[in-house]
Amino acid sequence: MKDQLLRGLIEPADLRVIQVEATDLSRMARMLHGLAPTSAAVFAEALAAGLLLGALQKDRTRVNLSLEVDGPIGGLLVDADTEGNIRGRIRRPDIHFPGDPSVGPRAALGGSGTLSVLRDQGRGEFYRGSVEFTPGTLTENLRRYFASSEQVASVLDLRVLPHDGEPLGVVAGIVVQKMPGGSLEALEEVRLRLEAGSFRDALARGERGETLASAAVGTRLQVLAQGPVSYVCNCTRERAVNAVSALGPDGIRQVIVEDGQVVIDCEFCRKRYVIGEAELADIARRLEGGVPGGARA
Ligand SMILES: [Zn+2]
Repeated sequence: MKDQLLRGLIEPADLRVIQVEATDLSRMARMLHGLAPTSAAVFAEALAAGLLLGALQKDRTRVNLSLEVDGPIGGLLVDADTEGNIRGRIRRPDIHFPGDPSVGPRAALGGSGTLSVLRDQGRGEFYRGSVEFTPGTLTENLRRYFASSEQVASVLDLRVLPHDGEPLGVVAGIVVQKMPGGSLEALEEVRLRLEAGSFRDALARGERGETLASAAVGTRLQVLAQGPVSYVCNCTRERAVNAVSALGPDGIRQVIVEDGQVVIDCEFCRKRYVIGEAELADIARRLEGGVPGGARA
């Protein structure tokens, strides 16, 4: 089944459910970044988390989830929008702890650091919430973030299950939140079910979509929307040129003398932008001439 995001409602209890299946996009991201199995598992968990955070955003905005940790993986960042698009980068792509795949990610993340969520509130306003990273998985730390920084009572589960030697056998996440007037007791029941492994077990049985969500929360839910999710980078050549413009005319001339060109590799999608000598000279002239489209003060 294709990667997808599902929005639903547990009606009598007034709980909202958002579930994401992100297996294919996580495997694609793994290829793009050339990730070893443990780096891939941690990154996949972050991608699923980012998509859930994006789905919780209002309007058409973005959200960033970032980790700075003292473990060998170093850190990562994922950048999601509200339409199911995500991209990300990870500091160390080459981490692999052979053996129990439930242990490797913990070892890779280490024991201290910071988990931050940067929410675009629209109109240029941002809200940053963060929690101290403590030993455990990204999911465990994200639960602490939800408990301390989000205004809404929430329960969360994220799973990266290996299958037949594929570290990203299935990648999925679910978040359940109490709506205004919703039942805290019902939410607590969902939390206990998830803690007992209801989401993991349903995934392992091969359930997907609505049946997966229903099995996880233990009741039928009303599906409000279902849509695709994907790994998409919005980098452009124009942005690469803007980055070069920031060097200023003298800086660009120096680059021309020293290197003859500028090579910019997008850290999210690995696309390479090469800006040659003639174009660099053009940019420098434009910056000096103050032609519209050139440098802004
Ligand atoms: Zn890119």
